[in-house]
Amino acid sequence: MKEDCIFCKIIKGEIPSSKVYEDEEILAFNDINPAAPIHILLIPKKHIKSLAELKDGDEKVIGKIYQVINKIAEKQEFKEKGYRVIANCGKDGGQEVEHLHFHLLAGKQLGEKIV
Ligand code: 5GP
Ligand code: ZN
Repeated sequence: MKEDCIFCKIIKGEIPSSKVYEDEEILAFNDINPAAPIHILLIPKKHIKSLAELKDGDEKVIGKIYQVINKIAEKQEFKEKGYRVIANCGKDGGQEVEHLHFHLLAGKQLGEKIV
């Protein structure tokens, strides 16, 4: 936990959020400024600054996040139609919140394909 981190505060409940999934390692909640009808953020409860700061062993929680994405896609019934997962990393990557997070976007034909 990092005192001044907005996502750590969400994990602690100091900032309210609309939770979609929670277990001992992972929290998923709706993005406050959605870019699609479904826009969920998935974060490890451990404060990891970004993909560039992964330590040995962190790959476990990342793999689990992708399994949680599958569960959410099934439950919210967009698994068949499809979805997009994005992790912005660092300044050039457009990362604004410095606590590793994965954007899960769904619910419409998503626009501009960069890659
Ligand atoms: P980034 O640009 O760092 O990849 O994404 C940060 C995301 O966090 C943005 O989509 C932004 O809307 C979202 N966000 C920032 N502050 C809050 C907050 O307090 N609550 C929620 N639910 N989302 C937030
Ligand atoms: Zn944090």
